[in-house]
Amino acid sequence: MKEIVSKVREAGVVGAGGGGFPTHVKIDTSVDVVLANGAECEPLLHCNQELMNREAGKILEGLRWVREATSAKKALVCLKKKYEKAIEAFRAHGGGKEFELFVMDDFYPAGDEFSLVYEVTRRQVPEAGIPLMVGVVVSNVESLYNIARAMQGIPVTERMLTVAGAVRKPVSLNVPIGISAEECIVLAGGPTVDEYRILAGGPMMGKLVEPDYPVQKTTSGIVVLPSDHPVIQKKRLDIKDIVRRAKAACIQCFSCTEMCPRYLLGHRLEPHKIMRSTSYGRADTDILTQAILCCECGVCELFACPMFLSPREMNALLRKKFGEQGVRWPGPKRECETYSTREGRKIPIGRLVGRLGIKAYDLPAPFTTIKQAPDRVTIPLSQHTGAAAIPVVKVGDRVEAGQPVGEIPEKKLGARVHASIRGRVTQVGKTVVIEAIKN
Ligand code: SF4
Ligand code: SF4
Repeated sequence: MKEIVSKVREAGVVGAGGGGFPTHVKIDTSVDVVLANGAECEPLLHCNQELMNREAGKILEGLRWVREATSAKKALVCLKKKYEKAIEAFRAHGGGKEFELFVMDDFYPAGDEFSLVYEVTRRQVPEAGIPLMVGVVVSNVESLYNIARAMQGIPVTERMLTVAGAVRKPVSLNVPIGISAEECIVLAGGPTVDEYRILAGGPMMGKLVEPDYPVQKTTSGIVVLPSDHPVIQKKRLDIKDIVRRAKAACIQCFSCTEMCPRYLLGHRLEPHKIMRSTSYGRADTDILTQAILCCECGVCELFACPMFLSPREMNALLRKKFGEQGVRWPGPKRECETYSTREGRKIPIGRLVGRLGIKAYDLPAPFTTIKQAPDRVTIPLSQHTGAAAIPVVKVGDRVEAGQPVGEIPEKKLGARVHASIRGRVTQVGKTVVIEAIKN
């Protein structure tokens, strides 16, 4: 068990689903259930689906290692009914026998860890808690793939992602960590519009980034949308605008709360009350700290609110502030009771796509191999939960792909970072920049 944890640590594996939690810490525990999370639910993104189609055997190998490391009795592969090819691929590799397949409908946010744990086990992850507290470890399918490679001594130097939206040829690609968003867009045939903005991640949870944004271990997508697209407009609002609009337009309709996946699981998160408290200048700390429970899924902002307001952004701001102040969720641990309305509030992806106005971009993004390595990569030393890695290379050093460029600071939570191409180090700071040496 220690050997598995150590190899995963050496390879720098982190949660590929978005959280970036160091995997060697996550699996260094005992639980009774392990879930492979293949319930990719962000519209337009297909990278997990493509990986499952192609690498089901490796994913199951990773799942086997996690089951062994955690001494779990049960391990399940969770994916959507519509992923027929992936289901077939898992079955061909023993899925359904050694590992149960848990097949789900196509709804948002099926891939959220709290929702997934509830769907599969009917256990409730406590408010501000983690699945481990109810005896479950959840690992994204790409993390499991990386674990299988780690056991062969291969570090994480690549990321499978989808390039989608206003691009000529939506694709899913395996790219070196540190390649720029702009280069990914070129690999998808280039943009189809002159004025566009880029999201790292999907339309729901993705963040606006610049063209030089470097792909990281947690980047599941690069989505291009016209600058005037409503999803982009929403993400461009600054907090002053968000508060001003909330004051002027929040009608306290309760819709954001009624649709909130965490509220529906029984957590004490009521975004309409947070909006009321921030908008009317009567800040109530008991209400505001509820923001800590928000997973920033975007349902309130991009689906529920009839007034186009942004409870999610408000929560993100409060979470940041509370994080800086060291404020933790003060609520006592208690049993959560799921609302009976939860089942009917799952959002079918087709409806979500319609509401977001991205139907024209809802296209397959088949796997494509890239033929040429980039000339340069910019590798962030912090692309995971915890402390940034400490650089272990200096300007002028020659590095090989897979060589460590950042180490975990002593006694800190963190992850190792590796060179993704062969080249020479030209900058070291918060990132390590490597210029390719080509033969
Ligand atoms: S859905 Fe919008 S208008 Fe309704 S309470 Fe929430 S923020 Fe206010
Ligand atoms: S983003 Fe909105 S809907 Fe999602 S968890 Fe937070 S408050 Fe709830």
